[in-house]
Amino acid sequence: MRKEAIRKAVWKRRGSNTSVYFDVLNHLENEDFVILKSMPLSALTYLSDKIIFIKERVYNEAAGGRSQARLVIAHELGHFDLHSGQRRVIELAAYEGIMEIEASFYAYELLAPIELVAKKVKTPSILNSLRVTSEFGVTREVMDYQYHTAVKEIATHGKSYHINNLQKRLQSIHLDRR
Ligand SMILES: [Zn+2]
Repeated sequence: MRKEAIRKAVWKRRGSNTSVYFDVLNHLENEDFVILKSMPLSALTYLSDKIIFIKERVYNEAAGGRSQARLVIAHELGHFDLHSGQRRVIELAAYEGIMEIEASFYAYELLAPIELVAKKVKTPSILNSLRVTSEFGVTREVMDYQYHTAVKEIATHGKSYHINNLQKRLQSIHLDRR
């Protein structure tokens, strides 16, 4: 799956929501999900039935705004949006690896879309302030990665890239809904 296809799925979920702090729990609660007191993983998604399972501790941490737990939920929303209902025909282990990368890419973009990061983080030194990571509700690792991705893509596409691209993307989302 191409990066642009994943970003399109992210903006389909976000709709016209350009808020810096994305409410993952609200989105989880609009889908079929189950909270389990104990499970070996933090979370998992049943792709065929479109059900997300979340460990109770992770759910509570996300409700408390813990960025690592928010990332786990965003990752599961990624599997939900990108992979559910898909029938796999090639070797499963290889696909699982790709699906994990895609879900993580989706999660980073959902919580900190590069357009919004580029708007908020004008210089790399801002990355050192706690304020910007807590505004987005992401870990420093996510913020660094998204910032550097934004810089790379803006360098490739020109300075006005992020603004134009965001507007274009919002317009195309609008078109999709008609
Ligand atoms: Zn996963």
